[in-house]
Amino acid sequence: MNFCGKTIPTRANAKYDPEDLHRCHLHSGHAGRCQEYPYLDHLAGVAPKVKNKVVRDATKTTGAAWKSDDAGPNRISRWVMMLDDEELLALGIDMSKLKPGIVAKLREKSASYDDCMASAKYLTYLVYGMANAPIPDQYTRQYLEALFGPINAGTTSCLICKSQLDFADFSEARRGRAEIETAHAQPRLHTPGNVGFAHRDCNIAQGDKTLPEFYEWIAGILERRRHSGG
Ligand SMILES: [Zn+2]
Ligand SMILES: [Zn+2]
Repeated sequence: MNFCGKTIPTRANAKYDPEDLHRCHLHSGHAGRCQEYPYLDHLAGVAPKVKNKVVRDATKTTGAAWKSDDAGPNRISRWVMMLDDEELLALGIDMSKLKPGIVAKLREKSASYDDCMASAKYLTYLVYGMANAPIPDQYTRQYLEALFGPINAGTTSCLICKSQLDFADFSEARRGRAEIETAHAQPRLHTPGNVGFAHRDCNIAQGDKTLPEFYEWIAGILERRRHSGG
């Protein structure tokens, strides 16, 4: 499947983005104006908050409490974090003023524009595979199925604990945090297959371990518990 790929003017609020970064993701030769996220139009109509979450999680670094100047930029685009310190300084972001832990967190979330776009498509596909998910319109179904295969509600499971995810959990929130979060099997790799959705509790438990490391850690705990008769 070939995409149009024409440049889409950068929105005024994307202040760190190069002018020619954003691309059209409609199929080549399409009618009408170019669009960056055509496969999210349906979700925007039926579940706008989920649509916004997909775009945010696919393209932005997570927004810990970094709102003050000295704590660093909040929810910056992942591709901006691929620039080196000198390039960032030219954009007005002084990494040397941030605490090392925050720099590490921001750098860990870095990803190319293309990987972010591919992740957005894959996350949208996973949304429609959740139990009780809205049924995609024909355009959206064809777009996503051509990339990832058939969409069947009830097939998307938590990336970490493997139990089924329910679309309704997007609207469940405790202390203002959603019950479903975006997670990564390998925390530094933001690509389809490696990115997915997970329960908030599972995501917290995984922390910055890779999934194999996490399972080994759990297996070790269960093994020791068995030997201690606990
Ligand atoms: Zn186009
Ligand atoms: Zn889980």
